[in-house]
Amino acid sequence: MNPHYDILIIGNGIIGCMSALKIANLSDKIKVGVIGPKTRYGSASVAAGAMLNVFGEIDYFKSEDNYIQRKLEIGCLAIPKWLEFLESYNLKPSVLVADSTVVYLKPDSTELESGCFSAIKKASLNYKKLTLESSNIDFLRNTMQIGSSADFIELKDEMAISTPSLFSWFDKKFREKKNIDLINAYAENVAPGGSKISITIGDETLYTSKVLLAAGAYSNDVLGDLSSELIPLLFGAGTAMQISLPDKLKDILPPKCVVRSPNRGSTCGIHIVPRENGIYYLGAGNFVTHKPVKGHRLLTIKYLLECFESDFTKKANKSLVEPILGFRPISLDGKPMIGPLGSCPNIFVATGTKRDGLTYSPIIVDDIFKWFNNRDRNKNFIGWEPDRKLISYGDRNLAVQSYVDNKIGGLIEHNTIQHKDIERVERELRNEAKIFYENICLKFNLDDNFGIHPEVLNTF
Ligand SMILES: Cc1cc2nc3c(=O)[nH]c(=O)nc-3n(C[C@H](O)[C@H](O)[C@H](O)COP(=O)(O)OP(=O)(O)OC[C@H]3O[C@@H](n4cnc5c(N)ncnc54)[C@H](O)[C@@H]3O)c2cc1C
Repeated sequence: MNPHYDILIIGNGIIGCMSALKIANLSDKIKVGVIGPKTRYGSASVAAGAMLNVFGEIDYFKSEDNYIQRKLEIGCLAIPKWLEFLESYNLKPSVLVADSTVVYLKPDSTELESGCFSAIKKASLNYKKLTLESSNIDFLRNTMQIGSSADFIELKDEMAISTPSLFSWFDKKFREKKNIDLINAYAENVAPGGSKISITIGDETLYTSKVLLAAGAYSNDVLGDLSSELIPLLFGAGTAMQISLPDKLKDILPPKCVVRSPNRGSTCGIHIVPRENGIYYLGAGNFVTHKPVKGHRLLTIKYLLECFESDFTKKANKSLVEPILGFRPISLDGKPMIGPLGSCPNIFVATGTKRDGLTYSPIIVDDIFKWFNNRDRNKNFIGWEPDRKLISYGDRNLAVQSYVDNKIGGLIEHNTIQHKDIERVERELRNEAKIFYENICLKFNLDDNFGIHPEVLNTF
């Protein structure tokens, strides 16, 4: 007979694994099951460069903007928690691959990119995390192709981890722990039934008192009929690669430091994260869709390599490249989906983390831990429950302007339009947005001033 679990966790990405360990550590008597394919197919956590970035990832900064303030607060709380976690398991030597981040702005950057750079500068200055001169900046001024003409800042404490190393550690640790079962499968359906929830896996049914649903971008698909209560979840196909540089290029990047650009329009810019033995992570594209795409986006790989050549070195063409694909979980309104279901409080959903899930995970896991122990939840994610009403991106005109700016930034960055065409393209994009809005407002019953996140609008 199958055991009855105290908690079954659907999804073996960062949220699932961190939660499993924390809950199982409470007592040997607590029976935890982690369901997910051994390969972690499509996992965002595995595909991520895994920067623990609070400031490097922002697109704008306004002190009166509630969303950006919440985002920065969660990030600032998460960094010490990450350090605590890595130190408590002695994982710093094998998992922590960078201690800080240098952000550079290329001389011919678009308005969007320089706007993001200013926002990063302003926000990190406000939180006293900014350095304008450092040995890493001097290093890059000397080695980068555009080193003498670029602008640089260094963000203290913006670290990076190696998720392949972290997940092999988690898998080993779980095999050693008697109260954690690793279930190498896909959950197919969740059916609540009072204090006993059943989960179907092929021909088998597992029973549990509580469920943590953390299957990343696939989370809504697992819930069957219940999924209609959740706000829709999209797939942000993230394309990146591991790049193995030839020996002569191994000293063009500073050790233990992430080097990145700001957002360049519809992508999170280019970032290079050191891994082991001269291998670097180079990322990342973002293509948001309603269903997962299969196969690698070769144009994105080409674009990232071209950026690397033009910004860093023209001599990278003998490098070995291994493409990576994973799906960022993106909710229809772009905000996280964290909290128990109103109709079944024993099911907690934790997804919609978009580009920040690794950074936020210790704080999300704290919230999950409190829910498991029937204690009051943290205030950090209140209002971002998975079955909430959609949250507006802001006033409609502002949201449309943001959509237009992002698209124009992307088109200029990819040399698809020239400066003289900008006015015409802006007009066309505004008309396009109007048509999208008519369809979406009708479909989701949204009011006239509702604003949609630019990356999400693009999917329509
Ligand atoms: C290219 C890329 C770069 C990124 N860079 C960063 C970064 O630098 N910093 C940062 O903070 N964030 C980054 N992110 C975002 C971050 O990776 C995610 O927000 C976070 O990892 C989500 O973690 P998760 O545990 O919710 O989901 P995932 O890591 O996606 O894990 C979900 C797991 O569930 C499994 N699964 C799917 N269906 C089922 C099912 N039916 N049953 C059981 N299991 C199932 C999947 O195989 C997967 O292993 C990046 C994302 C991508 C794609």
